[in-house]
Amino acid sequence: MVRTPLVAGNWKMNFDHLEATYFLQKLVWLLRDAKFDYGRCEVALFPAFTALRSIEVLVEADNLHIRYGAQTVSVTSQGAFTGDVSADMLAQLGCSYVIVGHSERRKYHPEDDANIVDQVRAVLAAGMQPILCVGESYEERRQGIELEFAVGQVKDVTRDLSQEDVSKLIVAYEPVWAIGTGMVATPQVAQEASKAIRSYVADTFGTEAAQAMRILYGGSVTSKNAKELIGQQDVDGFLVGGAALEVDEFSKIARLTV
Ligand code: PGA
Repeated sequence: MVRTPLVAGNWKMNFDHLEATYFLQKLVWLLRDAKFDYGRCEVALFPAFTALRSIEVLVEADNLHIRYGAQTVSVTSQGAFTGDVSADMLAQLGCSYVIVGHSERRKYHPEDDANIVDQVRAVLAAGMQPILCVGESYEERRQGIELEFAVGQVKDVTRDLSQEDVSKLIVAYEPVWAIGTGMVATPQVAQEASKAIRSYVADTFGTEAAQAMRILYGGSVTSKNAKELIGQQDVDGFLVGGAALEVDEFSKIARLTV
């Protein structure tokens, strides 16, 4: 099975709606100039909630091939939950994806496995695809339990999901020690973890679900290391943070991923 790679730019809490619009326009220009083939690599942006509507308007007006999504979602569908945004609200804005369980969300907000499972369910129920982030900290790697840990996170979240649900899931392997540090994982490390995750899914949900599942690598991805990382058999694209704030750099990463 050939999986279409995905290059996802996680803007975190950066860019207001004007900056987001400007970035998108420039990105499309750069990719058009490079005759980028969107059929061979999906490109997605993850702005703050406040910029989603502006991105939607531009994508629709110009019929752009760029996809987009949100960085988190509420587990409830509506009601008295001040500050929350529901999956249906995101789907209505044309979101294709929602990042779920990013290590920064797990650290700064009460997002434990139970909450993350509920987010995954909410995203799927609204017809979008979750990008589930997993990955060990430096401490777990030092103890030599990194694969167990990352696979364990996938296991905990997928435990009660159906095979159909799992085949829609995208996993982002993001070792916490590599996020925003400049310490990118070696291609071997990224491959080993992605392979372990895919094997677990194959054993539990069948080969078809495992082969369909895209596994992204995230953590200090730049245009300098993207080529080698994407050359790994089980790495199907990237979740990019810092380098997604520079439009030239981000477009380069997308071009290297095709
Ligand atoms: P980084 O962030 O590329 O800046 O390391 C990745 C992420 O947090 O998704």
